[in-house]
Amino acid sequence: MTQSLSTPTTFPAIKTETTKTEEDFIAEGHTPMMAQYHAIKQAHPGALLFYRMGDFYELFNDDAIVASDVLDITLTKRGKNKGNGIPMCGVPFHSYEPYLARLIRAGHKVAICEQTETPAEAKKRGGYKALVKRDVTRIITQGTLTEDTLLDARENNYLSTIACVAGQYAVAWLELSTASFFVSPILEKDIGTTFERIAPSEILISDKLIDHKNIKEISQHKKELITIQPHHLFDSENARKRLEVLFGVTTLDSFGAFSRAEIAAAGALIDYVQKTQKGKLPRLSPPRQIQQAHVMDIDAATRRNLELTRTLSGEYKGSLLWAIDRTLTNGGARLLQSRLSSPLNSLAAIKQRQNEVELFYNETALQDRIRDLLHEMPDMERALARLTVDRGGPRDLLVLLNGIRQASIIKSYVDETETTKKGLASKSESLTLSGPLIDFIDDLDRAIEPSPAPMARDGGFIKKGYLAKLDGLRNLRDDSKKLIAELQVKYRTLTKIDSLKIAYNNILGYYIDVPAKKADSLLIGKGEERHDDNPFVHRQTLANAVRFTTPDLSTLERDIASAADKALAIELQIFDALNEKANALAHEIGKIAATISAIDVSTSLAHLALEEQYIRPVLEDSTELSIKAGRHPVVEQIIKKNLSESFIPNDCDLGSKNRLWLLTGPNMAGKSTFLRQNALLAILAQIGSFVPAAEAKIGLIDKIFSRVGAADDLAKGRSTFMVEMVETATILNQATPHSLVILDEIGRGTATFDGLSIAWACVEHLHDINKCRALFATHYHELTSLQSRLSRLSCHAMQVKEWKDDIIFMHKVGTGSADRSYGIHVAKLAGLPAPVINRARDVLTMLEEGEQSGALARLADDLPLFSIIERDTPSKHKENNKLKELIQTIDPDNLTPKQALEILYDLVREAKETNR
Ligand code: ATP
Repeated sequence: MTQSLSTPTTFPAIKTETTKTEEDFIAEGHTPMMAQYHAIKQAHPGALLFYRMGDFYELFNDDAIVASDVLDITLTKRGKNKGNGIPMCGVPFHSYEPYLARLIRAGHKVAICEQTETPAEAKKRGGYKALVKRDVTRIITQGTLTEDTLLDARENNYLSTIACVAGQYAVAWLELSTASFFVSPILEKDIGTTFERIAPSEILISDKLIDHKNIKEISQHKKELITIQPHHLFDSENARKRLEVLFGVTTLDSFGAFSRAEIAAAGALIDYVQKTQKGKLPRLSPPRQIQQAHVMDIDAATRRNLELTRTLSGEYKGSLLWAIDRTLTNGGARLLQSRLSSPLNSLAAIKQRQNEVELFYNETALQDRIRDLLHEMPDMERALARLTVDRGGPRDLLVLLNGIRQASIIKSYVDETETTKKGLASKSESLTLSGPLIDFIDDLDRAIEPSPAPMARDGGFIKKGYLAKLDGLRNLRDDSKKLIAELQVKYRTLTKIDSLKIAYNNILGYYIDVPAKKADSLLIGKGEERHDDNPFVHRQTLANAVRFTTPDLSTLERDIASAADKALAIELQIFDALNEKANALAHEIGKIAATISAIDVSTSLAHLALEEQYIRPVLEDSTELSIKAGRHPVVEQIIKKNLSESFIPNDCDLGSKNRLWLLTGPNMAGKSTFLRQNALLAILAQIGSFVPAAEAKIGLIDKIFSRVGAADDLAKGRSTFMVEMVETATILNQATPHSLVILDEIGRGTATFDGLSIAWACVEHLHDINKCRALFATHYHELTSLQSRLSRLSCHAMQVKEWKDDIIFMHKVGTGSADRSYGIHVAKLAGLPAPVINRARDVLTMLEEGEQSGALARLADDLPLFSIIERDTPSKHKENNKLKELIQTIDPDNLTPKQALEILYDLVREAKETNR
């Protein structure tokens, strides 16, 4: 059966009684090779098996069908099993990564099965017919990637899991490519929110938790992320041991006081990593505990609605991250994204970040010099990760060398003045190199060529002069090449054949190539005893050429080959030794890389603040929220870029007397922009950034909620109105006095009175029960009457100006409430056909005239079904009345001919206007 892309996979396999051996497969009629394939495949059922055969990775059966479909490569057949051809396809070993990338992106896991011995070794072991041994050397899954080609350089790629021990829940997440590792105790109700915040690429779920209602929700809608694991892997005692061994400690206490659930989750991740990396455990930082209470809570809907890292349509451009990201390194970009996904809720930590941003904001010269260096900063975190799993190459060593050097220069800049040294003391300290690291850098500097080949196996990456023995072998190799050239000259003279040449191929090695017509003189003795004066030994006859060797050529060839082999072996030994040193110093190098990422984020936020005129917000432990002249960070930049207009700043004060603002105003007036801008400013403030405003004072916000815009969630089987109500319910159930809520047009998806009643009750609940800070935008003007009863509610309106029959949006928030909705004006602006606009005006007038039932009956009688197209005329009521009024004012007996003509002009103009 074809494996579905979205089916959660149990992986790796659990051994059962029914596990078959290679012999069992042979007994079933498979060839020895296919038996080996099936035995290996059986042990890795959730993954497509890349089975190495010569220069190809081959896929068979269902794997081949899936892969050929995803990769759009030809599906062929190989041999037969029970009379049927075995479906097969393959990808070349030397360029398999792009294929792998596509399969991983399509949600697959891939097991790489290599030959673990050479054919010669196999022959020696089991004779002529012995099958080469093969084994899976690595399982590649989305959450365990380390290759640059498979990863997005500026995005995190987390592997995550959840565990439950004795009713307590915890999540753990790690990133192999940067060595970061986190755990966090969570409440059961926060499961969905937490995974939304972490945004992992792969989630391991125990087979016991898969039916939990909050997890089912994830597994139903993000199936491709889920990998099911056997429950026994989440045993907290085994997990503790696994972690202690990994970090070489006898107790985990020094890393923090972890709950059993946290340990179980962390241990399950380690087990999975060990299995996918086939024992090669990468460097990981000790798990860092993230307390939920120290992080601002943002639920999935709010995260989406506020477009923090992606817009509602999934684009990066237009998101808050797009607007604020001025980072220059990949590590900095990843760190900024993760900070934006988890704003802080701890004053001390936020202020520390703000202090650093402020320092770079004030010290612009230092900021510029550091940013100049950051431009050149390579991705040390990912290079280090590759080296620690033996997937690194000489270029990764070079990355460490260059990165650490740049980091040392940055440190020297920071240390130049007392202010910066003191203000960035912890950063400066983290960038101090230990003695062994200095030695390592010197060693790398002496060893590695400035532009080495990517793979160590290609050789040539060690500098001349690093090791005398290596230089000697290289000289021998290169001299031998010179000798070959000399030999060619010698044989040309000897044979008088100018076209004779010494060439090389993989089958014959070095050989002497002579055109067939001229070869006779050298063929003397062919098949007989060789003449002593003829050193040429026949090797091969082709149509146009004959190939020879000589004893001298054979000796030279041996020398060249052995010198080249020996030189490569020595280079590989040097590489391994340097790699080992990098591993030994991985913790220190990792710290330097992380510090550079943090400096990148601070300098880039300072740069942003200067460029976009942001200010440092005051954060305090209160429930205030006072913003003077705040701007929407994204809309402001878009307006600036596209229209050369300017953004109109607005104040917002949700102090103790005005906890809840009711905002009315026409469509397009800027209500949503204003609502979102205040939430985004609060988020920016709590990641430690400056904010687009003239002044801002923000009492720490524990949770932010937003309900803006309406969208169906058809995937979850929810209509627009249902989505709206589910999101509103979450807010009313969870907002606390420390929360900030923004609600846009609650109750619009149902009948007017239903909607108004729901909106009404929500305002009362927010005011009396939640007591949170809230901005409530609505078209229900009736709600403004609540102001007299709810003491902490105040009414505000988006200002508009009427101009003739049109409206002009001022984008300014004023006090009071809007007098009307101007919906028909906006519809006219949007280009609704004139007959529809006119008819809408009729209907509105009649409805506003009261006696609703009678009016509606008249309207229904007057249904314009077919008449509407013809009736491209002014609306009867208002416009005819105006003409009528004008005509009634005419007194024909008292008009001069000129006045009569002017009136005639007026009437015609009026008639034309109303017709438009
Ligand atoms: P609707 O009720 O139809 O959703 P709205 O009142 O919520 O409308 P917004 O979507 O917030 O209006 O704003 C409409 C457009 O007005 C924005 O896309 C933006 O281009 C512009 N705009 C909003 N606020 C401002 C402002 N303060 N300064 C300048 N332009 C603004």
